[in-house]
Amino acid sequence: MVNSVVIVGGGTAGWMTATYLQATFGDRLPVTLVESADVPTVGVGEATFSTVRHFFDYLGLAEHEWMPACNGSYKLAIRFENWRGQGEHFYHPFERLRVADGFSLADWWLKLDDGERRFDEACYVLPALCEAKRSPKQFDGELFERSLHDGGDRPRRTTMFQQDTQFPYAYHFDAARLAGFLADFGTRRGVRRVLDDVVEVRQDERGWISGIVTREHGEIEADLFIDCTGFRGLLINKTLGEPFESFQDVLPNDRAVALRVPVDVEREGMAPYTTASARDCGWIWTIPLFGRIGTGYVYSSQFCSPEEAEAELRAFVGPRAKDAEANHIRMRIGRNRRSWVNNCVAIGLSSGFVEPLESTGIFFIQHGIEQLVRHFPDADWDANLARGYNESVARCLEGVREFLVLHYKASTRNDTPYWKATEDRRLPDGMAERLRLWEARLPDASSVYPYYHGFESYSYDVMLLGLGRPPARPHAALGLLEGGEARRQFAELREHAARLVEELPSQYEYLARLHAG
Ligand code: FAD
Repeated sequence: MVNSVVIVGGGTAGWMTATYLQATFGDRLPVTLVESADVPTVGVGEATFSTVRHFFDYLGLAEHEWMPACNGSYKLAIRFENWRGQGEHFYHPFERLRVADGFSLADWWLKLDDGERRFDEACYVLPALCEAKRSPKQFDGELFERSLHDGGDRPRRTTMFQQDTQFPYAYHFDAARLAGFLADFGTRRGVRRVLDDVVEVRQDERGWISGIVTREHGEIEADLFIDCTGFRGLLINKTLGEPFESFQDVLPNDRAVALRVPVDVEREGMAPYTTASARDCGWIWTIPLFGRIGTGYVYSSQFCSPEEAEAELRAFVGPRAKDAEANHIRMRIGRNRRSWVNNCVAIGLSSGFVEPLESTGIFFIQHGIEQLVRHFPDADWDANLARGYNESVARCLEGVREFLVLHYKASTRNDTPYWKATEDRRLPDGMAERLRLWEARLPDASSVYPYYHGFESYSYDVMLLGLGRPPARPHAALGLLEGGEARRQFAELREHAARLVEELPSQYEYLARLHAG
């Protein structure tokens, strides 16, 4: 049996893993987390994916307990700006498409579009809430639409594996504060925290890790070691020598520069979405937290130097960026050939990463932890468990890779060398065939990447219709249908969105109350 776990690394990955394992196994599985006081965390990673709600529910944490401590805010969507043309935007919301007469409203929009409203405005309610900077909840904590989710701000001990449940929102939070919050939470519940540097990793004669040697606390032994050391991959790559397989042939962005910018939320209000603004050599994220904005330029070093990127980001942000210190980051894009090797499992950036578009880094962490519990090693360390884990992690990363490649492939921009180069870039295996099918018919569950990777077919519809390529055609079958039900639903959606904008508090008003306790 695995009777003890050591986690190396105290960033978001390390503390999410420690608290999750503690919540699952309690004191039957002692967890020690070793983190360096000197090696910084990556310092970014502040927008999430909607499944993150399961994580907080699983720990039993209500929003009023953790959000104020982490400058938390709501995220209903990603707003894509200038990906299609200068001045254009659309939202990718956390909202499934409704269905009329067996076809999604995306299909119906293609047939019935009167040119009056964008696809996302016509088919969803969340874009209207985004434009009006609304909170997804009423002041009493009830969610705007009960049919979308069954609760307000009450944590529920969820079952661990809820891949089919979608929430209509995710969160933004300050990454450093979240790690600090989870560290306090975890240590209060029994996680042992060691503040020290790992200076050596010891292996037995089979090559399995037997212990880690710290500068001041000597050697720490365990049965299972979890590598959460970020892009360094101290255990999985540096010690065990597992090869890293780059995705850069299909996703070329390999650098980022980030700023933390103060903002007066009372005066300016708070957008309930992450913005991804396309720029000459990549794109800029804007993440509104309670009290500041996290922003950064993700770019390819083939087309832009760090100095140019920083200058462009500062110009984009304006005078408020004057005193903000720039954090330049080299990104390792791709995945380990295996994330579980012998008795070591890599979770977080040490396992794999695909660039921050669509905010999936923390989702990968959560998926990695859930899969680890699902494939938890037995007394014999059955190799099939590790194999199953590695397959699931690889597929998840590769599915997201394909979805992100679609963003560049479907964008109609070709106004700079960076955007021109997207046209001839190689596609991941199998994607060309799927793209051809999507030219003939909008994606559905049967025609997207076939393994779980968090995104459902509606997200593919949104990106294709939002970005404009390939030009989607109305479904031929709809030519034989009358469309009354779809028209009724479009009208109802419009009216529903207007009513919600009227009734819901602004995100600032809601959070100001939450933060005030
Ligand atoms: P890190 O934060 O790098 O932590 C590594 C830890 O290892 C640190 O505690 C360090 O002290 C410790 N360590 C290292 N060496 C030693 C040693 N020898 N001894 C002891 N301790 C050691 N994800 C999202 O979900 N949403 C986003 O919006 C998003 N944006 C991103 C933007 C960028 C530019 C990048 C690069 C990533 C982004 N991510 C995002 C990913 C997200 O930041 C990470 O998934 C998340 O922060 C987890 O990082 P980590 O804990 O794996 O690594």
